[in-house]
Amino acid sequence: MTNLSKFYQKTWMQRLQALMDQQLISVEQRQLLEKSATDPAVGDQQIENYLTHYGLPEGLAFHYLIDQRRYLVPMVTEEPSVIAASSHGAAIVEKSGGFYTKVTDHLLWGQIVFEQVANAEKLKSLLEQQQEKLLQIANQAHPSLQQRGGGARYLRVRILASDLVSLDLAIDTQQAMGANMVNSMLEAVADYLREQVSTPVLLSVLSNLADQALATAVCRIPVELLARPQITGQQVAQKMAAASRLAQLDPYRAATHNKGIMNGVDAVAIAMGNDWRAIESAAHAFAVKKGNYRGLSQWQLKSDESVLEGTLTLPLPVGFVGGSTKIVPLVQLNHHLTAIKSVGELEKVMVSVGLAQNLAALQALVSEGIQQGHMRLQLRATVLAAGAQPAEVATIVTKMQQLQRTDLATAQNLLAKEHE
Ligand code: NDP
Repeated sequence: MTNLSKFYQKTWMQRLQALMDQQLISVEQRQLLEKSATDPAVGDQQIENYLTHYGLPEGLAFHYLIDQRRYLVPMVTEEPSVIAASSHGAAIVEKSGGFYTKVTDHLLWGQIVFEQVANAEKLKSLLEQQQEKLLQIANQAHPSLQQRGGGARYLRVRILASDLVSLDLAIDTQQAMGANMVNSMLEAVADYLREQVSTPVLLSVLSNLADQALATAVCRIPVELLARPQITGQQVAQKMAAASRLAQLDPYRAATHNKGIMNGVDAVAIAMGNDWRAIESAAHAFAVKKGNYRGLSQWQLKSDESVLEGTLTLPLPVGFVGGSTKIVPLVQLNHHLTAIKSVGELEKVMVSVGLAQNLAALQALVSEGIQQGHMRLQLRATVLAAGAQPAEVATIVTKMQQLQRTDLATAQNLLAKEHE
């Protein structure tokens, strides 16, 4: 594929042409790439070998009452029923007085790892003795952070094996997620240490286990608000508490429990221009901190079983500035819609969304089951995949529900009959 060589040096138009010349795309496919490229100049700045913008749907979740303030929550997701479930969970909490949240400082860990260590204890004490100097070097590498009230705060040294030692710097990244800042600060410290210490540095990079940037949301729901057809609120609450216990005991269940939480958290992260892989890895690493992989949230019956209390703590290495937040115009719009003004507020919204999502999923799971609520939305996706036009979807979905069928072939058959 010689014509694709140096793809990264070509202009956007040349790249599309090269794909055409190699007969890798048709004229129609080129048109699709062109049509989807909402802002080629921005895309070309953001990533390498830019082709087009891959669109995901954005919607709004309602009913978020957090620390007595109301929020509209933009969510970007391709999964049907996430936004409906989010608003449903939030509405129950709204009737219960809302979410109460707290956030810790916004510190990110950066690691400088030494290998081939001859005497780990000696290296540990040498590094600890140099704390002041090392923090100073880190701060000099990104002085604007300290000027804003952030910067390197403290360090710790962990002996990982007799020959492997990690020097961890806790860095307050203020309003930014901080990965790039932390990495450049670490490299400055690593360069200094290479001259001071004979032990080789294996690598220096931030840690995504952001356990010094935690956000917690709590809600207390009178059990009667959880009632569903054919099951009382008391029974739903008891079963939700049991499902929560299950997620503490069984990693197979915990993985799905946490996936449901992250359905909401990721959707907000994307809407707010944040790195959702960083948030995902932080959440799942944090979920295993006590030894076993566990559910990130907990639900417990309180006050003579009249109230179900939900708590969720998440590491949230997120940014209100930096990364793609200023580059992607929709992020600014979403900040405006949510009316958040700081990274702390963003964390409060995200952790509340995670808890609302979890509430809605557990309530459905222990009552009518997850599929009933999902079904109409899932069916819409199946009918669209069968080739229906948007105007045809509702009719075909209703017919499939009458037939109690959910498969693609039935959707295609019904559509074909519709077109006869
Ligand atoms: P940036 O590199 O964009 O740095 C943050 C920017 O925000 C700086 O330019 C800073 O200005 C500016 N800023 C303005 N106001 C503030 C304020 N009040 N507080 C803090 N900063 C402010 O982004 P990050 O360092 O946050 O890095 C995030 C990006 O790194 C994401 O895109 C992520 O995907 C990526 N990344 C993630 C990794 C991971 O998770 N493992 C690894 C590597 C990259 P100034 O320069 O004047 O201080």
